[in-house]
Amino acid sequence: MHVLYMSSQNIFERIIAREIPAIIEYEDDEVIAIKDIAPKAPIHILIIPKKNIPSIADATLEDQNILGKLLMVAQKIGKEKNLEGYKLLFNVGEKGGQVIPHVHLHLLGGGKIDF
Ligand code: 5GP
Repeated sequence: MHVLYMSSQNIFERIIAREIPAIIEYEDDEVIAIKDIAPKAPIHILIIPKKNIPSIADATLEDQNILGKLLMVAQKIGKEKNLEGYKLLFNVGEKGGQVIPHVHLHLLGGGKIDF
């Protein structure tokens, strides 16, 4: 008997599928938030929709609720971690610095974020 194995396409899908590990800060049916593996601030969390939207440039009106939800999850994490301030960032497309083709919101905090 053959067992079909289909690897998910990108690293975030593999994390969502528990194929590779990550430190999970928040999860529900639609969103997962994980610690960035190479943090650019004392607190660096990636807030990721489970739906694979490749980038903000590919989003449609149908995606507006889930994209808004990413911001509300960021707010929740900011409150839970008692962050006084933080930066929220989407890299969009290769020229915008996006490396992983699956929408993710960077939450950077835990100190003065100057970039
Ligand atoms: P982008 O440049 O696409 O906006 O951001 C991708 C982010 O994902 C980077 O900050 C990078 O450090 C992070 N990253 C890349 N691979 C992994 C991984 O395997 N696990 C986690 N937790 N973060 C990753």
